[in-house]
Amino acid sequence: MPVFSHREFDDHEEVVFVSDASAGLRGIIAIHNTSRGPSLGGCRMFPYASDEEALRDVLRLSRGMTYKSAVADLDLGGGKSVIIGNPRTDKTADLLRAMGRAIGKLHGRYIAAEDSGISVEDVKAMAEETAWVAGIADRHGTDGSLLSGDPSPATALGTFLGIRVAARRRLGRDSLKGLRVAIQGVGSVGHRLAGHLCEAGAKLWICDVHHDLLARAEAAFNATVVEPDEIYGLDVDIFSPCALGAVLNDVTIPRLRARIVAGAANNQLSEARHGADLLKHQILYAPDYVINAGGIIDVWYQRRGNRDPEAAAEHIKGIEKTLDEIFTRAQRCGLPTNIVADRVAEERFRRMGTKGPHAAAA
Ligand code: NAD
Repeated sequence: MPVFSHREFDDHEEVVFVSDASAGLRGIIAIHNTSRGPSLGGCRMFPYASDEEALRDVLRLSRGMTYKSAVADLDLGGGKSVIIGNPRTDKTADLLRAMGRAIGKLHGRYIAAEDSGISVEDVKAMAEETAWVAGIADRHGTDGSLLSGDPSPATALGTFLGIRVAARRRLGRDSLKGLRVAIQGVGSVGHRLAGHLCEAGAKLWICDVHHDLLARAEAAFNATVVEPDEIYGLDVDIFSPCALGAVLNDVTIPRLRARIVAGAANNQLSEARHGADLLKHQILYAPDYVINAGGIIDVWYQRRGNRDPEAAAEHIKGIEKTLDEIFTRAQRCGLPTNIVADRVAEERFRRMGTKGPHAAAA
């Protein structure tokens, strides 16, 4: 399996293949760039069809984290890890502890947190073997309520705020009341996002591959359930990918009837050129790593001891301003929003005086 010549390899600093046969662990840790600080990113557990699929995912995800932390103005680098396996059937305490040991061997160059398939409890199991994990600190919210370390609520909130910015820009709407939104995936983030949208008066269509999660969201938000493949062609205002990556591609984009794509999933574009396709179809795309940065911002404040929930909330609100700036520049220059987002991230690298991933070209 090629790594250095892989099309998603982007001068990653370190790619580590981890295996522990007795614990049933096969995984990959990718550190993309640590110029701004230690790499921090979730650990994903997924039943990848092949090692190559897992490698591709971790290379793309870790690069995305570098750009996400830069655009969110955090002193963190980009990294991510994946465990090959079904989180519902293959996950054991042994496997999680083995992953914790593998993370520990990197001595803090990579810090793991939650991602799809990995919960707060799972990260706590890794923490039995290493201190280099995040997203497990209990803390108080701005209303004084006790919260777990799960970053999903912050991700969902940031995504909701971003959807409001996109609706204002593309639909000229200050209110989401009556807007039709299709949510792909009602897991940790998608379910909470559905809650915010429902409260704001939006009408929801949802899909997922797990019927228990669908039933939960259907009952809570009076949402209409559709089959996974139906979600793309729905006559809605907003399509919100909140499941996995590469869902915006040559096959799906021509099917979209929504005028906005704005969701929490990482790596929504199958390739960067699909950002231009969305522009051609007059669909406003909220770049994924900008709109879904609420979680990493939350984890960053957790690592500082959760001393200031107001500051964390304010930082997450900054997603609105960044998105607005990206939309304005994209419109002015006639460029796809994903390209402008990359430029903003690279500018923020330079502002910190660090060597960005493409500093030589910039
Ligand atoms: P999750 O696993 O809790 O939820 C994902 C949901 O998508 C699951 O319910 C799964 O069954 C569903 N799904 C999988 N394949 C599907 C398909 N083909 N069609 C419809 N649904 C499908 O994960 P999450 O934590 O909610 O994260 C969702 C996405 O947001 C991921 O891409 C993740 O990387 C990204 N993200 C999450 C966070 C966070 O704080 N959790 C932060 C930033 C980005």
